[in-house]
Amino acid sequence: MSKISVLDVKFDNYSMREFQNLFLSRMNNKQSTFIVTANPEIVMAAKDNPDFKELVNGADFLTADGIGIIKGANILKTPMKERVTGYDLFSWFIEIAEKRSSKIFFVGAKPEVIAKVAQKVAEKYPHIQVVGAKDGYFKEDLQTVATEIEAAEPDMVFAALGYPRQEELINILRQDNLPAMMMGVGGSFDVFSGTVKRAPMIFQKAHLEWFYRLLTNPTRFKRMLVLPKFIGEVKKSRKKN
Ligand code: UDP
Repeated sequence: MSKISVLDVKFDNYSMREFQNLFLSRMNNKQSTFIVTANPEIVMAAKDNPDFKELVNGADFLTADGIGIIKGANILKTPMKERVTGYDLFSWFIEIAEKRSSKIFFVGAKPEVIAKVAQKVAEKYPHIQVVGAKDGYFKEDLQTVATEIEAAEPDMVFAALGYPRQEELINILRQDNLPAMMMGVGGSFDVFSGTVKRAPMIFQKAHLEWFYRLLTNPTRFKRMLVLPKFIGEVKKSRKKN
């Protein structure tokens, strides 16, 4: 098992294909599996919050979500195989779920978005059994929602609540050993439902997805300031070691 530490967050250095093979084998064995796709924002949040860092590092798998993490690992001279984004993994899981007639619980995003997610799955993936489609603006506490999810006995759980809540929710399910593949997917339901467009391939290939998002959604600017900060912290940590 090869881990690569970036600001004390311990990533699994696997290619997309390697991750997929590991996940398939865990699915076959019905193993409870908590996957975190960590971007620079999550790493910076972990840096400031020891509890969140412990939670993230306690996941079964941590993938490098975003070019920022890849750059950080290069600066530390511990290059990673490839970027494995939440959305790419989510899309792959949906295809697998269709092949296996899996039961999925979707939780997160706005009511109209989650409704569109359920509708798209029903139309395009007739073999998937949606055992839950709950929006992310619930009033109950996470424990109550976790109990609700467990009662539905899903094979996969996707939580789009934003961090750290989506990871906290999945952590409860993982502690309870729910035999499912579970992953926080951030804004993926917005993209999957067509509410938000993903960057055109040309931006994705040039690793300029962040730039496209900035152009189309300038209010994200403040959140993006975390990127240069993250790179600065990585350089500082390299000097220390
Ligand atoms: N969200 C939610 N409940 C909340 C706050 C946010 O369900 O209380 C959803 C939001 O609608 C969006 C998702 O969480 O679909 C993630 O949002 P964000 O754009 O912050 O995600 P990221 O940039 O991390 O992918």
